[in-house]
Amino acid sequence: MKRSLSLLFVFGLIVVTGQILTTTGRADGGFALTAPVVVPTPAKAKPTREIVFLDGEYDGVAVKKTDAQWKRELSQDEYRVMRLDGTEYPYTGALTDNKKAGTYHCAACGLILFRSENKYDSGTGWPSFYDVAFKKNVIESEDRSLAEIRTEVECARCKAHLGHVFDDGPRPTGLRYCINSVSLRFKQK
Ligand SMILES: [Zn+2]
Repeated sequence: MKRSLSLLFVFGLIVVTGQILTTTGRADGGFALTAPVVVPTPAKAKPTREIVFLDGEYDGVAVKKTDAQWKRELSQDEYRVMRLDGTEYPYTGALTDNKKAGTYHCAACGLILFRSENKYDSGTGWPSFYDVAFKKNVIESEDRSLAEIRTEVECARCKAHLGHVFDDGPRPTGLRYCINSVSLRFKQK
């Protein structure tokens, strides 16, 4: 009995330590995990769901699914960000530092949204682009959920929340599309 109790304590300690380390890693961005207990950041987890990539301009035929369907199909993180307008922790996304040539698609419906040619390092911890692949493929609307009024960016085909667009980006557009990595799937050229 005594042994199992102390085992339980050690296990509890490992779990708590792991959580603290994960939180620290997310908060300061540059922290490298060196402790033996590694708790993967959910946003970095490898996507398992197959997706059909669509490369062209949005044809106007919307993807409509019930909330229950989305919940079933998407991962917990995808659902929280894309359907509940969540935001992933900065520097946790798998595509933030991706510099490969290719296209970025909606992680829910596969529609092309951005291109690697327009991706740049904004230093914010989220994948950033100064332009979209096609204007028609995204919907931009006013977001008043915070004190600051922002412009929300959604996928035009399935209405998934992608992120926000700001006007402090580089030339030639001056725009910064600040997109959650979990909302994107990368298709390498
Ligand atoms: Zn979509």
